[in-house]
Amino acid sequence: MARQKIITSESAGADDEQFNIALRPRRLDECIGSPELMEKIRIAVTAARERSEPMEHVLLHGPPGLGKTTLAYVIAHEMAATIKVTSGPALTRPGDLIGILTNLEASDVLFIDEIHRLSPAVEEYIYPAMEEFKVDFVVDSGMHSRTINLPLKPFTLIGATTRAGLLSPPLRTRFGIAHHLEFWSDADLLKRIEMSAAMLQLSCDADALTAMSRRARGTPRIANRLLRRCRDYAQVKGDGRLTVDTVDAALKLEGIDVLGLDELDRQFLRIIIETYSGGPVGIEAVAATLGEETDTLVDVVEPFLLQTGMLARTRRGRLATIKAYEHLGVKYAPREENGKLFEADA
Ligand code: ADP
Repeated sequence: MARQKIITSESAGADDEQFNIALRPRRLDECIGSPELMEKIRIAVTAARERSEPMEHVLLHGPPGLGKTTLAYVIAHEMAATIKVTSGPALTRPGDLIGILTNLEASDVLFIDEIHRLSPAVEEYIYPAMEEFKVDFVVDSGMHSRTINLPLKPFTLIGATTRAGLLSPPLRTRFGIAHHLEFWSDADLLKRIEMSAAMLQLSCDADALTAMSRRARGTPRIANRLLRRCRDYAQVKGDGRLTVDTVDAALKLEGIDVLGLDELDRQFLRIIIETYSGGPVGIEAVAATLGEETDTLVDVVEPFLLQTGMLARTRRGRLATIKAYEHLGVKYAPREENGKLFEADA
């Protein structure tokens, strides 16, 4: 199946990453987003600083591109701490983790992205490190084996995951603060785009930025990426100024529709509707037909489609809703199953 370059995929590419780092807020008061979350973090940071202690361990979960890494950096900055960054898949052996832990200074922040992908062997060493700031490990084997206890300096672990459900309960319960990051409102996305446009010193019409924010899939990383695509388009095809017409034309060229769905989103829904009669169908079957990784569909594609109400998850599998049929312009034909009318919005 022919595939377009997916520019709304939330995973960060290398060029994208450089741009994102430049646009990332550093301080809490520069952050856009839920005032409750910002307040929660401000209180935790202030309390920890007043007691001269590291902040409690924090778990941030939610779809990619919503601000988990940014918050980890902001927390470290507000704590005036150094941040060390790694990820679940990078810590293949217990020694990898022990090496990092034993090099942490007091109040340092250790950020582990994709923490749900830590291997059980490595995860075992995290528990005492988080709880008692120590690691115990066994050296040698047989009659010569002995356990070495290494004290660690008190630190803050910030874990980020797109799949909190895959975290083992013992790991999850060791985080004192846990927060689910939601998709952003259009108003917050607009603030983000305005901030980026100002930092990039772009000349633009206000309604052009609004048009962009509506198609950013509730995701600030995508908002930044759309801005980049529109900026290129305006520079090459126009006089450099971002107008509604340039935004419409640039995003149309990229295959992004009025609701912000990209080609992969639409293919996903079309396969459920056309190949599996609207569902319910298992995610693995959709992934195989689409030639995509199941994890990509679950982490990147599904959350937004669920949020828009075009996809429903039932015990029997994924179901395209009437809204999806309408959006794709496919006529919805109610069908019978076991003599009963089957509803796409079941
Ligand atoms: P995640 O780690 O969840 O994948 P990131 O933290 O990398 O997401 O966020 C992606 C981009 O979104 C950042 O580079 C930044 O430009 C923007 N962003 C994220 N959170 C905020 C925030 N609270 N305020 C302003 N911009 C943000």
